Amino acid sequence: MKRVGAHVSAAGGVENAPLNAQKIGAKAFALFTKNQRQWRAKPLTEQSINAFKANLINVGIAPEHVLPHDSYLINLGHPEQEGLEKSRAAFLDEMQRCEQLGLPLLNFHPGSHLKKISEEESLDRIAESINLALAQTTGVTAVIENTAGQGTNLGHRFDHLAHIIDKVEDKNRVGVCLDTCHTFTAGYDLRTTEACEQTFAEFEQIVGFHYLRGMHLNDSKPELGSRVDRHESLGLGKIGMACFDYIMNDERFDEIPMVLETIDDSLWAEEIEILYGLGGK
Ligand SMILES: [Zn+2]
Ligand SMILES: [Zn+2]
Repeated sequence: MKRVGAHVSAAGGVENAPLNAQKIGAKAFALFTKNQRQWRAKPLTEQSINAFKANLINVGIAPEHVLPHDSYLINLGHPEQEGLEKSRAAFLDEMQRCEQLGLPLLNFHPGSHLKKISEEESLDRIAESINLALAQTTGVTAVIENTAGQGTNLGHRFDHLAHIIDKVEDKNRVGVCLDTCHTFTAGYDLRTTEACEQTFAEFEQIVGFHYLRGMHLNDSKPELGSRVDRHESLGLGKIGMACFDYIMNDERFDEIPMVLETIDDSLWAEEIEILYGLGGK
C-alpha cells in the first residue's frame, strides 16, 4: 500500500501534526519538530510527547510513516570547524527529538561545501557527522534527501548519496529520501514513463532501492537540470502527472512515507485523492 500525505503544520505543538494530517486524508506526514529557521529550541515537554503519541494512534498513522524534517540551518558538510560543530550539535538534538517521539526516521539535506573545501571533503564530513549522531542515539535512521544542487548544495547526484552511504558505519540506520522536484531539477528526467524507468534504474544501480526510506512528491516550477529548487503543485509544473502515476503504480514505493511539499496547502487533500485515484490503495 502507498502511504501518501503532506508536510503538515506543527504550530501550537508537535501533537497537532497528526490531527492536521488526518484533516487532509493523509496516511503519512512530515513535520518539523522545532522551528526550522532557528538554532535553538525548547526541549519537548513530556505532555507534548505523550499527546503526540496518543494522537498518532488515534489517527491510525504508524511512526514509520512519519518523516520528520530537520532545520534548514544545519550544514553537516560545513567547511569550517565552528559551523560544523554547531550543525552537528543541532542535528543530534533533532535525532534525539525523534527518539523521544518514537519516530524512526529523520530527513535532512546533506550539506554544502560553500566553495571552501572540495566536494569530496564535504561529503566525507557529512558521513562523519552522521556517524557521530548515530553513535549517540538508538532507533533513528538518518535519511539523506537528494537536493536540486542549488548553489553549493551537495546531494544532487546519486553518486553523492552513494558516497555518503559508503562511509556511514551503520548501514542499517542510513537511508535516502528522493524529492521528485529536486531529482528533476538536478538533471534526472521524470516527464514520461520511459524517463522514470531510466532515472529509477540509475538510482537502483548507484544507490539501491533498499536504501529508499521516503519520497517527497512535488512538481517543479523550473526546467530539467536547472538546479533551482522551486516546488509546484502536482500537474502544474514541468514534471507533469506521468511521474506520479508511475510512482503510485510501482511497488518499490510501497510502505514508505510519500510526502507532498507542494506550494498550495489548500490543494493537499485533493492532491492526495488524485494520487490514490492513480493507484496504490
Ligand atoms: Zn527537504
Ligand atoms: Zn523535499
